[in-house]
Amino acid sequence: MNSQKIDIKSLQYDALQKLVAEMGQPKYRADQIFSWLHEKYVHSFEEMTNLPESLRQELSETCDLICITKKEVLTSALDGTKKYLFELSDGNLIESVMMRYKHGNSVCVSSQVGCAMGCSFCASTLKGCVRDLTTSEILDQVYEIQEDIGERVSNIVIMGMGEPLLNYDAVVGFVRILSAENALHISQRNITISTCGIIPAIIKLSKEQLKVTLALSLHAPNDEIRRKIMPVAKKYSIPDLLDACEIYFAETGRRVTFEYCLIAGVNDRPEDARELAALLKGKNAHVNLIPVNPTPENRYQETKEADIARFRKILEDGQITVTRRREMGRDISGACGQLVRRRS
Ligand code: SAH
Repeated sequence: MNSQKIDIKSLQYDALQKLVAEMGQPKYRADQIFSWLHEKYVHSFEEMTNLPESLRQELSETCDLICITKKEVLTSALDGTKKYLFELSDGNLIESVMMRYKHGNSVCVSSQVGCAMGCSFCASTLKGCVRDLTTSEILDQVYEIQEDIGERVSNIVIMGMGEPLLNYDAVVGFVRILSAENALHISQRNITISTCGIIPAIIKLSKEQLKVTLALSLHAPNDEIRRKIMPVAKKYSIPDLLDACEIYFAETGRRVTFEYCLIAGVNDRPEDARELAALLKGKNAHVNLIPVNPTPENRYQETKEADIARFRKILEDGQITVTRRREMGRDISGACGQLVRRRS
C-alpha cells in the first residue's frame, strides 16, 4: 500500500464527491465510482467501464483500491457456518465468519490484526495487536463473503479479531458506508459493535447519530473477578461502564447487550448470578450468555448445562432478560474467541 495515495474505498460518499470535483469531473462520476466500489465490488479501476480511460488512469495514479484476498474457506459440517482466512495487501492475515440464521446471513468481521486487550479466554489476543484495519479492509470482508456465498448479507457483528473501539474512526466509517442507501444498505439496527468497554469511545459513539447495537463484554459481576480475566477492567470500573451504557441508551434509544461468557469455576457460581442480577436490576439490560469456547491456550472449561440453566433462572427471577448465544462453527474453530492471527 502506498501511503501517499488515497484509500478510495474508505471514502464516504460526500468525500468521494469532493475528490471527483477536485479532479474537475462532473458530479455523477462520484455516483458511478461509489457504485462500482460498494455495489459491484470491483477489484480494479479498469473494471469501471463507464468511466473515461483518462479518469481511470488518473484514479489509479492518485488512489489505491484496497482489496483483501480469500486464502482459505472452512465450512462447518454442524451448521454450515463458514470461516474465512483473508490476506491483506501487506501480507497480514485476518479471519471472518459467516453464519446462517433464520433471519438472514450474518457476518462477523475483524477490526484489527490481532488484539491488544489480553482477555485471558480469547485466542485473538495471544500475539498482541499488529495494526488497525482500514474501513476498506473491514468492508471487503463483507463484500468478499457476499460474493462467495452468492446471497445477501443482512446482519453484521463486529466481534471478530480486535477491539473495534480502539480503531474508532475506521469502524464508524465502516458502519456509515455499509448502511448507506447507495451501498449495501444494511440497516444500522442489524449492526452490532462489541467492545470490552472503552468508556470514552462509548460516550463518543453515543453521539454519532447511529442506530447500531452496542454489546458490552462484561463477563463478570464485579471488578475483582473481571480484573482476573480482562486486563481492561483495571482501567475502567464496572459502575463507570454501566453509566456509559446508560448514556448510550439515553442518546440512541438502543438497549445495550451485556455479553457474559460463562467459565467454569471463574464466574459461573449461583452467587455470581445473584450479584449480576442485582447489578443490572432496573437497567435497560439484556444479558447474552455464552459458554466459554475452550482453546488450547486458555485451558478453561465450559459451564455444565445444568449450571447454565440455574444461572439463567437466577437472572430471570431477577427480572433480567436473558438469551443464550448459539455457538456456531465450533468444528472449524470459528466460534467466539477462536479466531487467530496467523502468518503466511
Ligand atoms: N474486543 C471486542 C470484540 C471481539 S470479541 C470485545 O471484547 O467485545 C467478541 C466476543 O467474544 C466478546 O464478547 C468476547 O469476550 C468473546 N470471547 C472471546 N473469547 C471467547 C471464548 N474463548 N469463548 C467465548 N467467548 C469469547
